[in-house]
Amino acid sequence: MKIIDILNKRNMSLSFEVFPPKKESTLESVMEVTEEIAASHPAFMSVTYGAGGGTSRYTMEIARNIMEKHQVPTLAHLTCVSSSREMVRSKIEEMKSMGIRNVMALRGDLTPELAASDPAGWDYRYAVELIRELKESGDFCIGAACYPEVHPDSPNQKEDLLHIKEKVDAGAEFLTTQMVFDNNLFFNFLYKLREVGVTVPVLPGIMPITNANQVERAIKLSGSFMPQRFKSIVDYFGSDPDAMKQAGIAYATDQIIDLYANGITNVHVYSMNKPDVAKAILQNLSDILGKDFNR
Ligand code: FAD
Repeated sequence: MKIIDILNKRNMSLSFEVFPPKKESTLESVMEVTEEIAASHPAFMSVTYGAGGGTSRYTMEIARNIMEKHQVPTLAHLTCVSSSREMVRSKIEEMKSMGIRNVMALRGDLTPELAASDPAGWDYRYAVELIRELKESGDFCIGAACYPEVHPDSPNQKEDLLHIKEKVDAGAEFLTTQMVFDNNLFFNFLYKLREVGVTVPVLPGIMPITNANQVERAIKLSGSFMPQRFKSIVDYFGSDPDAMKQAGIAYATDQIIDLYANGITNVHVYSMNKPDVAKAILQNLSDILGKDFNR
């Protein structure tokens, strides 16, 4: 099933992101946790490619496994900047042969070596080029990334917004945001996207922070703003793992409810291969997700 068909239904939905392991030795355990998340039947699951400490080797395999064993639609991420055209083409063919029809088309982060090299020698420079290639290569539903707090490489938000629009004009059918901890930042950003003519569904990315150590890493990775309300939770509960986990899940749940209540129907959760966290959030929302509010 194509992700855009799920998003267009306008029912409230929740999707989860997982990441592949670094080593083959841990593939089995990652398969198990991703299956456990899939068994709770989210709207769809996305599998990252070379991000969050994982590698690109098992992305397609994990996506196919979830799809085949649990009939949960999957979204396979694909990055381009550190790849050759040949490598990207072979991944596209691999996806086609596995029946994967949903792709999150990304540039990927620049390594220091790459950033220091001459872009004239790169096969890809921006995600929009991958989107164009996917469009020409097959019948894919394509998603792209966006940044409510502006992508760090961008000189300003105006330019960043125009490049997001370029991705949509090239064929991205939906957008997912970098993690946001303050919903107002998302609402303001959505308004700006609509102003520049981006009309596709935009999924806010919610990261449940369930231990204090995660905070620093999440901020370093995303550069996202942490509201004082959230900082107080970490300060107060951070030293008690159980209390911090409960508070982090409650904070993420509260953000999701606020998004739904303000008309955002599809929310993406960075579930970080944690089935207990994914299930707890779904449990917290069980009556909300199970009902049709005649929207
Ligand atoms: P782009 O859209 O290419 O944008 C990158 C920068 O270039 C921006 O500053 C943009 O404004 C600018 N730009 C774009 N087009 C042009 C142009 N024509 N001229 C000048 N400037 C331009 N990383 C991974 O490695 N694996 C993953 O699985 C992964 N999943 C992600 C999922 C989501 C939802 C998000 C938000 C990010 C994800 N990332 C992942 C991180 C992502 O790869 C990085 O943030 C990367 O630095 C930018 O990727 P992009 O696709 O947004 O790039």
